Amino acid sequence: MVTSEIADYSGLHGTPSDYFSPTSVAQLKDFLKNNPLKVIRIGGGLTGVSGGAVPLSHECFLDLSKLTAIEWYDEDAGIIQCEAGVTMHDLLQFAQSKGWDFPVIPGSLNQATIGGMVACNGGGPRSLKYGKIGNYMLALDILTPTGETIHVGGKATKISQGISDKSIWIGSEGTLGIITSLLIRCTPQVPPLHFKRIACHSLTELMNVIPSLLKLDPSILELASKDALKFTSNVDEHVIWVGFTNPTEISFQASFNITDESEAILEERFNIGHKLQGYKPFIDLDVSFPIKHSTAAVNALSQLLDEHELEHIVFGHAGDGNYHIHVFFDDNRMVWENIQQKFDEIITSHEGFISGEHGIGRIHSERYKRTVSDWNKNIYTALKSCLDPNNQLPSLI
Ligand SMILES: Cc1cc2nc3c(=O)[nH]c(=O)nc-3n(C[C@H](O)[C@H](O)[C@H](O)COP(=O)(O)OP(=O)(O)OC[C@H]3O[C@@H](n4cnc5c(N)ncnc54)[C@H](O)[C@@H]3O)c2cc1C
Repeated sequence: MVTSEIADYSGLHGTPSDYFSPTSVAQLKDFLKNNPLKVIRIGGGLTGVSGGAVPLSHECFLDLSKLTAIEWYDEDAGIIQCEAGVTMHDLLQFAQSKGWDFPVIPGSLNQATIGGMVACNGGGPRSLKYGKIGNYMLALDILTPTGETIHVGGKATKISQGISDKSIWIGSEGTLGIITSLLIRCTPQVPPLHFKRIACHSLTELMNVIPSLLKLDPSILELASKDALKFTSNVDEHVIWVGFTNPTEISFQASFNITDESEAILEERFNIGHKLQGYKPFIDLDVSFPIKHSTAAVNALSQLLDEHELEHIVFGHAGDGNYHIHVFFDDNRMVWENIQQKFDEIITSHEGFISGEHGIGRIHSERYKRTVSDWNKNIYTALKSCLDPNNQLPSLI
């Protein structure tokens, strides 16, 4: 069956050769068994910003968004087993309805699926304290592209029995198998936070206070440049939002404007990602640095983009050193193409990575191949030839 166009939030779109949207894992398994050697592209909630779910014209699009069953639940341990198409919103609601909680909440909560989040090793604002989604994954069921079932991990929360094979699929981006079901560990209720909003006219000065804020043990530490804030509050200062479990006093010199806030203030930060959609074509550069290099690295990247007159904004999970630099294009995308190698050299020279949570997808594949080590490539190639010997799934390299 020929289908209509599929798009995610990367700006890529594509029409697959055919389309299958199973309502059960058994149906999906039958489909794979009956269609050997089919070339497949997996999609979940289609909120990805790297184009990993966007099909090429010869690929069959597997839409997993209807695999939404919560299959099993352990009330005593707060463990949920669910299908891969359950949205993060529904997972959170379910956990909270049972007196548990889940701390990895992406800005794309309503649409992103648990399968897509694990496939991209996603995070959220509370990842500073609670880590990324992979930390909460106890076990996985995977279907190979030929329809064989693989089960990794288990219901025990501690396992030291050889290598942690479940980790192979964290960040695999639909290239090593189809995640169909996941066993997720919840947390006790996440405490409400006391927020401060710290505004400053100098982005460098603002970023320089991050290490001292981290010593105060915040659960959330987010940042946006004033250019990014034109999509929400339209203020003329750069801003950090920081959330603490206990009321915490902060005092810096007069150039900082510090106010007490409620959690609702986070909308100023989290609406940026939604509101910038439709402004102009863009590329999302999801860079990630050790804290000690973050300020120098973000300044150097910004300066490079300024020198080439590329309009851009900076916002993100500053406590984790993870910044989303969105570069907007008029008819000058080629300028970006010409400087991206230089951009990536700045990243690696600051011990950084080209993605902190959004993944490689189709958009960053060439950059990934250029920046990743030969050892990474060798390990990935070995896994790929074992799990997808006929290359039915896309490849990161
Ligand atoms: C407004 C906005 C805010 C966002 N905020 C955040 C944030 O706070 N934190 C964050 O980490 N990300 C964020 N993102 C990015 C995005 O939501 C995440 O990358 C998310 O993990 C994608 O999930 P999805 O279900 O939409 O996956 P899709 O976009 O459908 O797919 C993404 C990748 O995962 C693969 N995949 C999907 N499902 C499976 C499966 N079951 N098995 C194997 N592979 C699979 C696909 O092939 C593709 O490579 C945001 C995006 C938007 C648009």
